[in-house]
Amino acid sequence: MTDNFDRCTSCGEQILRGDICLRSSKDMEQIMVVRRDHGVEKKIPLQPKVCSKCGAVSFFVRNPDSLKINSSDKPVDPGFRSKPILESDF
Ligand SMILES: [Zn+2]
Repeated sequence: MTDNFDRCTSCGEQILRGDICLRSSKDMEQIMVVRRDHGVEKKIPLQPKVCSKCGAVSFFVRNPDSLKINSSDKPVDPGFRSKPILESDF
């Protein structure tokens, strides 16, 4: 499964790393990773993967640990209330 990293999720073709890149445009909003249950938005760079065979574009986070919520992450909306723990969560 490890070689899925550089394989197109659409056609399965091998993706040449660093061959095609994307960059954010100044006139476009940056893509934000949002943890909805926590009301937190995190600025995490998304690495693009572009397939030169079928044109599929996918994104991945190089360090998934950075997606975790830590104590320095505050909800964007000060009135945000975290989702109550439900019986179905267990
Ligand atoms: Zn492809």
